[in-house]
Amino acid sequence: MNDHHDNGRPPAGQDGDDRHDRHDDDPVRAPWHAPMRLALDEAVRAPATGDVPVGAVVLGPDGAVLGRGHNVREAVGDPTGHAELVALRAAARARGGWRLNGCTLVVTLEPCTMCAGAAVLARVDRVVYGARDVKAGAAGSLWDVVRDRRLNHRPEVVNDVLAPECGRLLTDFFRGPNPPSATPTPADPTPAPGPDTPAPTAPTAARDTDFEPRPPVG
Ligand SMILES: [Zn+2]
Repeated sequence: MNDHHDNGRPPAGQDGDDRHDRHDDDPVRAPWHAPMRLALDEAVRAPATGDVPVGAVVLGPDGAVLGRGHNVREAVGDPTGHAELVALRAAARARGGWRLNGCTLVVTLEPCTMCAGAAVLARVDRVVYGARDVKAGAAGSLWDVVRDRRLNHRPEVVNDVLAPECGRLLTDFFRGPNPPSATPTPADPTPAPGPDTPAPTAPTAARDTDFEPRPPVG
């Protein structure tokens, strides 16, 4: 179903098996809990500048952290200031080059088209993400940029790693009582729920954002 690369650590898993969504001891996803917690540590730093709490780390082939980052779109006024790009750029600097073969991008929210494209261009072996983004996700939800068979390089994907924690951070942020730089926008009253997930009980809009995370499950 997709390319497999076994030169990374921790051991690789497979994507698309929703049966494991709610099991913390899932052998496919459990090895990625620790790096996802590092990404979560990054994510919680974003709201200080009014940025959506998404965090990312890039692991080298040996599992060492090469780069990390969180959303800085508001902080630096950069439409490309997504956590993944910040982390990928840092990893490239640490490695002394743009090729990130053997590396793993770990991010708390499913990458958008830009970041999924960047992961392909960086030639990472693997993309590991937490919460799905049913509105803009490009690693299996709305598109599947990373595993498009027309591309020569197709990173492996491991989804739903600590998804409830990752999603909760986002929903808490959007439900915040006084979010900075809030820009009221018409809310979509009926965001698409997952196949086994009830519709969200609160709108996630009410501010200018591209993100509409899948509500936490479990
Ligand atoms: Zn992005």
